Amino acid sequence: MKNLKFRNRLFIAFCGVLIVATVLPGLYMYQSLKREILAESTQKAIDQLEVIDWLLEKDQPFLSGRSLDQWCTETGEKLNCRITIIKHGGAVIADSSVARQELRYLENHSDRKEIRAATADQPAVSVRYSDTTKQRLIYAARQVQSPAHSRPVYLRAAYPVSSVDARLQTYTGRFWLALAAILALTFGLSIYLARRLEQPIYKIMDRLKGIARGDFSHQYIMDAGDEFYQLSMTLNETADRISEQMEVISEQNREMEAIIENMREGVMLIDKAGRIKAINQAMGQIAECQLSCIGKRPLEAFLNSEVQAACDKILQGTAEYNITLNMGEERFYDMYAVKIAEGGALIVFYNVSEQLRLEKIRRDFVANVSHELKTPLTSIKGYVETLLSGGFSMNDQARSFLGTIEKNTTQMTGIVNDLLQLTRLQENPMDLEIKPVQIGPVFEKAWETCRLAAEQKQIRIDNRLPTNLVANADPAALTRVFGNLADNAIRYSPQGGIITVSAQTTDTEAVFSIRDQGPGIAPKHRERIFERFYRVDKERSRALGGTGLGLSICKHAVSAMNGRIWVQSPPEREQTGSVFFFTLPRDLKPAESNHCPEAGGEPRASV
Ligand code: ADP
Repeated sequence: MKNLKFRNRLFIAFCGVLIVATVLPGLYMYQSLKREILAESTQKAIDQLEVIDWLLEKDQPFLSGRSLDQWCTETGEKLNCRITIIKHGGAVIADSSVARQELRYLENHSDRKEIRAATADQPAVSVRYSDTTKQRLIYAARQVQSPAHSRPVYLRAAYPVSSVDARLQTYTGRFWLALAAILALTFGLSIYLARRLEQPIYKIMDRLKGIARGDFSHQYIMDAGDEFYQLSMTLNETADRISEQMEVISEQNREMEAIIENMREGVMLIDKAGRIKAINQAMGQIAECQLSCIGKRPLEAFLNSEVQAACDKILQGTAEYNITLNMGEERFYDMYAVKIAEGGALIVFYNVSEQLRLEKIRRDFVANVSHELKTPLTSIKGYVETLLSGGFSMNDQARSFLGTIEKNTTQMTGIVNDLLQLTRLQENPMDLEIKPVQIGPVFEKAWETCRLAAEQKQIRIDNRLPTNLVANADPAALTRVFGNLADNAIRYSPQGGIITVSAQTTDTEAVFSIRDQGPGIAPKHRERIFERFYRVDKERSRALGGTGLGLSICKHAVSAMNGRIWVQSPPEREQTGSVFFFTLPRDLKPAESNHCPEAGGEPRASV
């Protein structure tokens, strides 16, 4: 059925409906007609029986058997029916269809249905086959009084059913003829209607296929009078709408493409499978391939394992990733990778070569200037110290001037030294020799450099570093970090304050903290104090001998040792003071884990 053409299916459906709609009522009508004809014939038989009864009463042929039989024969012939008179008990005493001498051979009729049911008041009817006349008959019987018999006799009239059947046959023939004519007519009509319906549907289907292929032109596929005219007009409107929407989308796509294509940043789309799906012109130039990159893995296109690793990270579920790439020949890019909703990754390359070049020039300049200044400053400082300590005659004012010169020279030397150190950390972070180091001795060495200043302010150090704590660090850089943080803590602590140093450890890192009871740092300064020369209070910092570079050095040193640094102010459960945290990675070795107490271990004695 599915493989049939639409028209044929429609036709079959039509025919099915028509056959059911005509044949079933036809059969019902035929049966009803048959029932009615039979009922009419039965009624006619009863009416005839009444007439025969009336004649019988009038003629009174009961005087002799002969006259009764003759009366039956004559009346039966006149009325075209069979008349039978049956005695009470079932013996036939006269029958218009049987000769008088044959009557004695007839069966007893007392068991006949109409005889059993007939009374004087109520005639009875039955339709059945007659053994005597060998045909189907309609029998009507009733009891009548006979002067010749002590008990009532039965008067029975019978008509052949064949007359009913003949009528019925005539009707049936006409009925089937009419039905055939109706069916033929409706078949023809079905074919015509199926064709009429099929044509516009095929036209609409063709039109829809055209729209699906992108043909949105206005087409009048139906005439104004057609049943499907409205539908075809709606189709045209829909095509117009889709066309407009497509135009808007295409326009937006073109704009987007133009923006992305002309961006100076390289943009690349990676699909779920980790293959390059699209790249813009700038990215093509970075990877030194244009369309040939499409379908390749990032490693194949960029020949750079860091790019591949970043893409892998995103595809494995990291939401975003940022890294600075050295693509050789002094080309540096900041690479931003983000996960996209459909799966896959969006990668943006931002060229930072120029920025890094300028930064390097600036760093080189600062380093050169610092270097150049260092020697004359050392010389000035030496001479001033000699003048102040030697036996030169000078008045108090000259001595005071020399004191100021010495103080400023010391300050400048400090700045120059810090700048040189910072430059070294920025330029060559790889020069650090990172290895597992015992933290305790490193801190004590750093504290030694601050001890004098601490004693002058009667500041006590509460060293809670766990014994034998080991972390991965460059000893000199770590000494500098501890030294700078302790130096700041002393500088900003009140007279007689306590500085607490402690560490919390996990399997992978140690978190160090240096806490003081100083004035603390307002939230707006907390991020910025790690910038070069950023000071909350410039005058105070200078007066305290600060250079504004200490925390910047700490930040670069900690980051070069793969750690992080931050400040919390005030510390938890405190009103004032600051606590500086920094982390260092550590590899837990079995020997160390036996000796090194975890966070909260026994504090060591103060030094
Ligand atoms: P400085 O040489 O001025 O101390 P740093 O880089 O070491 O330079 O510190 C930057 C600024 O951060 C300081 O000027 C000071 O305002 C603030 N600061 C640093 N450490 C502390 C501290 N322990 N308590 C309060 N303020 C601090």
